[in-house]
Amino acid sequence: MSDLHQENKAFLIRATRNIFSGLLDILYPRHCFACDKSLHEEKNSYICEDCREKIKETEARRCARCGFELGPGIASSGKGCPECENTSLRFEKSFFVSDNKGPLKNLIHQFKYHKHVCLMKPLGGLLTGLLQQGIIPEIDVVVPVPLHWKKKQERGFNQSELIAKKICKKLSLPISVNNLRRVKNTLSQTRLSRLQRQKNVNGAFKVKKPDMFFEKNVLLVDDVLTTGITASECARNLKNAGAKEVYLLALARSRL
Ligand SMILES: [Zn+2]
Ligand SMILES: [Zn+2]
Repeated sequence: MSDLHQENKAFLIRATRNIFSGLLDILYPRHCFACDKSLHEEKNSYICEDCREKIKETEARRCARCGFELGPGIASSGKGCPECENTSLRFEKSFFVSDNKGPLKNLIHQFKYHKHVCLMKPLGGLLTGLLQQGIIPEIDVVVPVPLHWKKKQERGFNQSELIAKKICKKLSLPISVNNLRRVKNTLSQTRLSRLQRQKNVNGAFKVKKPDMFFEKNVLLVDDVLTTGITASECARNLKNAGAKEVYLLALARSRL
């Protein structure tokens, strides 16, 4: 084959590829899922650079247990802070990326309610990043906060489970998805007061095989932490099954 012929062939392949990706951009325009900015220049990405930076911004001083932002002069002890010390949360500590605001809030909303399940990748990546910083103690098993089967069927997926699976795959951690179960199809906690929330989740969870959690350090994974009452109820069940310590990992911390 002559050089000229080969050059022509390479040119044709390149041109076809460019036309094809141009067509794809028209058919499936790629935009940042958080701010809608075009992502033409940024390959293999779901979030633009600006949003990525905003999510990474450092956060205020917080209560180690519930994540409440501590104002000047407010202290947090091992028992918690003024926000959580009377609710006796049953998990040891909570970890999350940031407050539920800005680009992170938009991403979680797109993921959960607009069913863009592809976002489990960048969201899982944010949590994997937290775990890789080594701030969370040794973990034996990862447990996503379960949904009742009816709710899972309605939504089509459990957002916490998808994210937990991403983390476990990336960090080679064992996951348990069906042993802690939500046996009560509870109301959404969103519009409930603290007291109503507690009543709503009482008896909502059950552990099928307690042996699986015996003497284990468990990392509970949830999407958004608000009062911590749901996660605490999960932690209570895990500890009744013999779990040693329970840590909570969530994407964001929201205010009641
Ligand atoms: Zn953006
Ligand atoms: Zn607190």
